[in-house]
Amino acid sequence: MLHEVHCTKCGMVYWADLLDTNLEITDPITVLDRLRCPGNHVELCSPSVYLEFTGKTKEGHAPSDEEWLKTMTERHGRLYDNSEVGGAFSITGFSYGMAFGTEKATGKKVTLDFTSSPSGRTRYYWVV
Ligand SMILES: [Zn+2]
Repeated sequence: MLHEVHCTKCGMVYWADLLDTNLEITDPITVLDRLRCPGNHVELCSPSVYLEFTGKTKEGHAPSDEEWLKTMTERHGRLYDNSEVGGAFSITGFSYGMAFGTEKATGKKVTLDFTSSPSGRTRYYWVV
């Protein structure tokens, strides 16, 4: 069962698969604390402060990291995970949810967008 979640920080609405949390929504704050917003922001507070259930549900499952990566690669081209991005780029800063730097191979200035995989285990970057 997928539950629709709204992020009040970035406005993103996404489907969360609670199978990953092994919890049902009997205690929403506990469940929300186990979720992550896939949007481009970093928060120092509990996710239950800025995530909320909309009350909508649907049958199905969240895409696996592999399914999600295939879709993202088709949409954005090459994606770089945390272990690769430092080898390909010199990141000089972050601003407005984007990373800025230089591509090491070409010396070209680049802007990188980034987000986490559905499981939240890996962060991916791509050139915009
Ligand atoms: Zn968000």
